[in-house]
Amino acid sequence: MSRSELKDSLRRPLRNLRLSVTDRCNLRCAYCMPEEEYSWLPSREILSFEEISALVDSFVALGVKKVRLTGGEPLVRRDLPVLVKLLAGKPLDELAMTTNGVLLGEHAVALKQAGLQRVTISLDTLQRERFHKLTRRDQLPQVLEGIAAAGAAGFSGIKLDTVLTRGVNDDEIEALLEFAGRHEAELRFIEYMDVGGATRWSMEQVISAKELLSRLSARFGVIEPLPGRGSAPAERFRLADGRVFGVIASTTQPFCSACDRARLTADGHWFTCLYSTGGTDLKAVLRGGASADELESVIRNVWEARSDRGAEQRLALRSRGPLASAAELRREPHLEMHTRGG
Ligand code: SAM
Ligand code: SF4
Ligand code: SF4
Repeated sequence: MSRSELKDSLRRPLRNLRLSVTDRCNLRCAYCMPEEEYSWLPSREILSFEEISALVDSFVALGVKKVRLTGGEPLVRRDLPVLVKLLAGKPLDELAMTTNGVLLGEHAVALKQAGLQRVTISLDTLQRERFHKLTRRDQLPQVLEGIAAAGAAGFSGIKLDTVLTRGVNDDEIEALLEFAGRHEAELRFIEYMDVGGATRWSMEQVISAKELLSRLSARFGVIEPLPGRGSAPAERFRLADGRVFGVIASTTQPFCSACDRARLTADGHWFTCLYSTGGTDLKAVLRGGASADELESVIRNVWEARSDRGAEQRLALRSRGPLASAAELRREPHLEMHTRGG
């Protein structure tokens, strides 16, 4: 069997790697990090850029084509453009980053020059006070500067990701669409997920894709679904006026059957599902002196055994609440969304 044909037990290939470069963050979004302090990964456990590069080589050898840098907040990791440059030299179809945008104004040019291809910026509100309340930091102006800086640095196809929460920001759907249009960015609405860290999650607060589309069609008329989703989490739609937007319905319409994503934490733990409770400590394998072939063989065996369908299983639960309590998350920080990288 050729290397590119690696498939899991449900015949899903391994194509996408989300690389969390730090578990630290400069915001405290209520749906992700509702506490002020966390059990942080110890600094000595954090992978060096050379270690990340070696692990990425193994994933690439097994079929990974797209790498997305994430966190925590990836831009709080010092010298990130150095890592970007290392990764940009690898045979990838896409090297992207998801960021909260706060530090993008400072780093957009260096990231572009280092070879970063695409940027997704999280943006839940355009109202300064609301941003402050939602993230516990008064930094909306920096985020807006960051979005402008990304465009000015030459990034095209910028995406803006919005987690819609009932009673929090669902009155800004139109304003956010308009903002995205003005910045030539594509807005994607993400359903609020019951992941680790979302300790205040409840189904009542989720604005489902179905509800969102019916609200939008009541306001704008017919909405046309666009073809060509493939294994991408976002379904794309076009409004009658030509504006295109995406919806990521991870909570109410999970897309596990096409999931080709893996997640590597900043301390080298590899998770094959956003909801999995255990991972594989690839840092231990690497620091134990494994050769590239041995590392690949570990990854291959884990992927071939993979049967994860986390979001589908959550959907099937009769009653649904947060994945883990704050106490459980303190004991096992690897369960946190901000450690796994979203
Ligand atoms: N700090 C960066 C950022 O916010 O863009 C990258 C990491 S963050 C964990 C990645 C994405 O996960 C963000 O777009 C964020 O909105 C999303 N996210 C975090 N918690 C979520 C939740 N409970 N439900 C849905 N999306 C969530
Ligand atoms: Fe918010 Fe991203 Fe930080 Fe989580 S990791 S608190 S989503 S900025
Ligand atoms: Fe993939 Fe797990 Fe998310 Fe399903 S829940 S789409 S298997 S990461």
